Amino acid sequence: MKRKTINKNIKYMGIGLHKGEDIKLKLKPAKSGEGIVFKRVDFEEGKNIIKLDNQNVFELTRGTNLKNEFGAQIYTIEHFLSALYALQITDLNVEIDGNELPIIDGSAFKFLELLEESVIDLEDDIEELVIKSPIYVSKGDKYVIGMPYDGYKITYAINFNHSFLKSELLEMEINYENYKNEISKARTFGFDFELEYLKANNLALGGSLDNAIVITKDGVLNPGGLRYDDEFVRHKMLDIIGDLKVLNRPIKGHLVAVKAGHAINNEFAKELEKHNNI
Ligand SMILES: [Zn+2]
Repeated sequence: MKRKTINKNIKYMGIGLHKGEDIKLKLKPAKSGEGIVFKRVDFEEGKNIIKLDNQNVFELTRGTNLKNEFGAQIYTIEHFLSALYALQITDLNVEIDGNELPIIDGSAFKFLELLEESVIDLEDDIEELVIKSPIYVSKGDKYVIGMPYDGYKITYAINFNHSFLKSELLEMEINYENYKNEISKARTFGFDFELEYLKANNLALGGSLDNAIVITKDGVLNPGGLRYDDEFVRHKMLDIIGDLKVLNRPIKGHLVAVKAGHAINNEFAKELEKHNNI
């Protein structure tokens, strides 16, 4: 498999979830082997480069976030990374004038749309991360299990003790077509009772029904309803694909995730690194 980048500059502007401010994004071609490199153009020159690397991941409570040794941070990268995984983009320069990616509609679809026509092969090959024997991480009742498989397949189960959102189970072969049609449009979600806490703590200031599904005790607040009957588990699948993109390598294996989230996904990424002797 060839490393990939894009063949032209692409611009986008949209609000960030946490601060609710407009964020300008400029996506630029990169050289083979450069990796995914973020540049905070609003941060001090020389200290504003943040490379996608599992060493730079921090604070996994509400998303997957990156920082460098100078204190430059970038929040909520997982939906963007998820789209990059699906597009197989390995090398990209990302200029951004704030500390978070635009939330857009809470899914990854717009990132696909922005990039998909511009993806090109680079000269070098990229090696897959291969799951050669079963590996797993667990924390309480959360699990991520990896097994050998000729391809990339994810089985995902969620289970909430809630009157509306209960259990969902989905298994999918991860290829571009499936990703685009079945996963990329699934939006992030939260419960109505979480909103007060977020507001009281000045979190998710940009959050609205335009960029998240809000779940009530008997349905969702969003006027248009759900995009898929099982949109929640589909979004969790979108998230884990993005969370494991911190390794910036294609994955070959079958993942079984049960009630997983950003923190345990990152634990699994570390296991996967060890398993491949990185
Ligand atoms: Zn998400």
